Amino acid sequence: MGKRVLSAMIKHETNTFSKVATGLDEYRSRALRSGNAIEPIYAGTKSEVAAHFDAARENDWALTCAIAANATSSGKVTEEAWEYLSSAVLTTLDRDGPFDGILLALHGAMVTESTDDGEGTLLAAVRRHVGPDIPICVSLDLHANVTDRMVDNANGLFSFRTYPHVDIYETALRAALVLRDAMDGKNPASMPCPPGAP
Ligand SMILES: [Zn+2]
Repeated sequence: MGKRVLSAMIKHETNTFSKVATGLDEYRSRALRSGNAIEPIYAGTKSEVAAHFDAARENDWALTCAIAANATSSGKVTEEAWEYLSSAVLTTLDRDGPFDGILLALHGAMVTESTDDGEGTLLAAVRRHVGPDIPICVSLDLHANVTDRMVDNANGLFSFRTYPHVDIYETALRAALVLRDAMDGKNPASMPCPPGAP
């Protein structure tokens, strides 16, 4: 049996000057899928989630994609939405774990009503759930505000290299390749970064 990998996409580029709160309806109007509803939407596209599925097929992983969520850039993410999105990952970890690796597609600039560092808070919570030895690799927008907390709680952070973002699939695939090697016991810190496009 191949490795068991948890994947998720939770994105938001928060504009803290905007008073338009980002709730679940704002996610629903762009992207909010969970469980088995995810793959039919994303498979075969040039999305990060598609890269997760392709890497799983290529490497014989048992992939559980917990949630795929994205909302248009707007104000802070509401507590209700943040709770829904983060607990989708954490409850899947508890219910379907243990996993050998974690592969996340985040934005890197999420601010919620309760934290200025959405991604760092999420990664710290995931790290608490899986412990210190399970590799966590993350793809990020190049507009990410990378914090110490994100760095401290991930084994690899991989940002898009292009604007417009035409390399999101390739970026997630880079994250997946390093996750694969990390699950095989290689130290991500000692690995050369796989080439991306372009
Ligand atoms: Zn961007």
